[in-house]
Amino acid sequence: MLYKRSSALFKEAQDVIPGGVNSPVRAFKAVGGTPIFAKSAKGAYVFDEDDNQYIDYINSWGPMILGHAHKPVVDAVVEKAKLGTSFGMPTEIETKIAELAISMVPNIDKIRFVNSGTEACMSAVRLARGFTGKEKIIKFAGCYHGHSDAFLIQAGSGAVTFGSPNSPGVTEGTAKDTLLARYNDIDNVEALIKANADEIACIILEPVAGNMGCIPPKDNFLQKLRTLCDAHNILLIFDEVMTGFRLAKGGAQELFNVDADIVCFGKVIGGGLPVGAFATRNEIMNHLAPLGAVYQAGTLSGNPLAMAAGLAMLTEINLDDELFTRLAEKTEYLHKGMTKILQEHNIDHVINRVGSMISVHFCKDEVYDFETSAKGNNASFKAFFHGMLNEGVYIAPSAFETWFLCDALSYEDLDKTIEAVSRVAKTL
Ligand SMILES: *Cc1c(COP(=O)(O)O)cnc(C)c1O
Repeated sequence: MLYKRSSALFKEAQDVIPGGVNSPVRAFKAVGGTPIFAKSAKGAYVFDEDDNQYIDYINSWGPMILGHAHKPVVDAVVEKAKLGTSFGMPTEIETKIAELAISMVPNIDKIRFVNSGTEACMSAVRLARGFTGKEKIIKFAGCYHGHSDAFLIQAGSGAVTFGSPNSPGVTEGTAKDTLLARYNDIDNVEALIKANADEIACIILEPVAGNMGCIPPKDNFLQKLRTLCDAHNILLIFDEVMTGFRLAKGGAQELFNVDADIVCFGKVIGGGLPVGAFATRNEIMNHLAPLGAVYQAGTLSGNPLAMAAGLAMLTEINLDDELFTRLAEKTEYLHKGMTKILQEHNIDHVINRVGSMISVHFCKDEVYDFETSAKGNNASFKAFFHGMLNEGVYIAPSAFETWFLCDALSYEDLDKTIEAVSRVAKTL
């Protein structure tokens, strides 16, 4: 493959945009090489500025669950744009998408739309603090909730009580209110709660982690968190920015039959436009401005183009009762195909999968938290990534990212992917 134009564009971009990108993972730093500049995409494929074609397993990091440039979504946005692109006044379509989202997702009465997953999680935590009157939060090492200060805290070794900031610019003061726990380790969570009795406002987590590879909750982890939260007057926040409208119509709450107190959305809910949202029951939402004192706002929140894309997307998902089964079957097919090949080549690997989320880890032992995920062989992943790219298969440029399957993928595409894996595996 030739990346002549992409290389030139990247060079130009670096003069005026930090690192040439507007979100760091796009820069290919984890895998080396030059990022590919996208020109267009349709269905399961993305095309770059050099007219190379790829089968796309990133799908804009999740939103394009039905495939790129899906006609009902594109049409809805184009039609809406003709009527004006922003008013700073309430519009009917905001109520329409709210009604639909609330009908699809269990256990929520009201939903507030924002512009990104980051905003959704940040606002959800503020609401939890305002509602409970408590200040500390528990998050899990390896879970990503966007880039707001309270979430950029990383685990030290062992059971960490107070986190330290892992980005310059995050204050110690902020860090001390974020407690770090190990994913899938309920004893660790319980110990943190004990050590900080009556100070914890909420526990926030990805109900299926997707930002350290794909990591399913095990041993009834979510149910046990629910029980702990109930016992200690702590709100449970599911960050479903990735899993919402992807794992089931009702997201992880439906899939695992566990109720969260506040749910965050992003990605799929915006149909590819910048949208986030958080939702909860009336008792809690009544504390949010303008009903209550917890402030949250946005000039472009509920933007008509964004709402049109989101409403078209959710409508399609809601009408298709087979969608999630189809997606899970395709993902299982890919899983089996890749497993067979990697076994044939005696390559140590672990593949994790839930619904249409899947990740390949080049390591021997089970991957169930950040530490076990970090044990993956990064050299193998790099070689695998570039091999696949060269074969015309675009996977996430980091071993810590999940692949997302979309409904536009055909079994022929999956077979081509598996054949590509078999050629790449020979070189590992
Ligand atoms: C992507 C993501 C976010 C952040 O969403 P942005 O729209 O990038 O701000 C938050 N939480 C999870 C689980 C995510 O995957």
